[in-house]
Amino acid sequence: MGTQLKLVDKNLHEVAVDAKRMLFHIPSSSLFQLDALSGQVIDLFRQKSDLNYDYVQQQLKSQYSEEQVKETLQELVSMEIVSDGRPLTAEIAVKEVNTFPLNTIVLNVNTGCNLSCTYCYKEDLDKPSAGKKMSFETGRNSIDMMLRESPDEPRYNIVFFGGEPLSNLQLIKQLVAYAEERLGSLGKSIDFTMTTNATLLTEEIVEFLAAHRFGLSISMDGPQAIHDRNRITVGGQGTYAVVARKAKMLLSRYRSRPVGARVTLTRGTTDIVQIWDHLFNDLGFAEVGFAPVTSGDISSYNLTEAELVEVFTNMKKLGQQYLVAALENRNIGFSNMHQLITDIYEGSKKALPCGAGVALLAVDHGGGLNLCHRFTGSDLELFGTVEKGIDRERLSGFLNQRLDRTNTGCSTCRIRNLCSGGCYHESYARYEDPSMPTYHYCDLMRDWVDFGIEVYTRIQAENPAFIENYIVPRKGH
Ligand code: SF4
Ligand code: SF4
Repeated sequence: MGTQLKLVDKNLHEVAVDAKRMLFHIPSSSLFQLDALSGQVIDLFRQKSDLNYDYVQQQLKSQYSEEQVKETLQELVSMEIVSDGRPLTAEIAVKEVNTFPLNTIVLNVNTGCNLSCTYCYKEDLDKPSAGKKMSFETGRNSIDMMLRESPDEPRYNIVFFGGEPLSNLQLIKQLVAYAEERLGSLGKSIDFTMTTNATLLTEEIVEFLAAHRFGLSISMDGPQAIHDRNRITVGGQGTYAVVARKAKMLLSRYRSRPVGARVTLTRGTTDIVQIWDHLFNDLGFAEVGFAPVTSGDISSYNLTEAELVEVFTNMKKLGQQYLVAALENRNIGFSNMHQLITDIYEGSKKALPCGAGVALLAVDHGGGLNLCHRFTGSDLELFGTVEKGIDRERLSGFLNQRLDRTNTGCSTCRIRNLCSGGCYHESYARYEDPSMPTYHYCDLMRDWVDFGIEVYTRIQAENPAFIENYIVPRKGH
């Protein structure tokens, strides 16, 4: 058979884990262990780019039967790792987004915050006294708009965001009551979440949150010396003491759901292991997630290039601890790692980086629709209002631009279906164009995914029960 065969480089990526050759099949985000024969076939293609069937048979006939080689080649062709000249399947089935299965709204219930964190990215952030509060009418219209735009979802999520959301607790209570009644009467489930700086929490508020099963994320940057660098009051005082006290109170009482800490890493802060240790072991958070700031609104707070490298090195250090614990069937709550392992396990294939603009929209205090919470108050034109609904043309136009990877660095990138060009807001902050991919730390991201593949492979080989116990149950949440 003289058909020319070629390796489809953009569809495969190999990661060596000890003696194993792991093949990351990029179009399906799946991981396979290469057997010796498949590995040898791939090596032949690497030595000589254009081969034919007979040549491969010839090279391998002393070790394998003709049938074995044929089967392997057929399998590689069917996975589109090897091409026999037929056109490849379009990678992303979705070509256009014209419908919006909206199931999550983020409500900016108050632009004001009682703290004055130095690095805060909120473009519409006001001092407490100048905070613009969302009205009940706007909140109610937001819920109604979500139901109007997307009536068929089984489950809806309302995320309370700010500024500091607890500085408009009254509205939160009213909207929880309204949503539970409205959605309950339709037989729909509703889920509430909130990110808070914790300073305004009281036992009474905790009871209210528990009664409505809020998912909670506390913004906290680590031990006192690190937290107090940036998370300060309007008067300039560190807030560690009060946040730690409130967090302990919350963690001692809150049984509805696990509580997570969200850490913002800005210039000068890269010590991930120490921060995790404090938040997980000393304070008792169930999960700790890290958000490295690379393109915040205040550029002097962005991590430098060298620091970003350090951040990823330290993420890998904590990742090693995650692995050691996983092999002992313990989860150390390192969210970034856990998410990556979940993505690899599930074979996540993302056409777009996140749900923003498709399943999720953020409502600003005045009722304007934004891609996500990070865009409220920005100069980016709105994508509709809660009264008029989604500006479908504008939103589709934006998303379709991102779906089309032609002529972008992402089109052949090996993590294109996991990263999908990165966060819109980072691109907006960096290039003033949310449709641009975030090119500034691609190598670090690719290396991080390779690390995840290695950790996943080891867990699968040495303690698959961890995947069963901690990864599988997350599915669908
Ligand atoms: S932004 Fe960079 S890392 Fe992400 S898919 Fe595009 S090229 Fe790959
Ligand atoms: S655009 Fe960025 S900040 Fe907004 S939801 Fe997506 S990943 Fe998160």
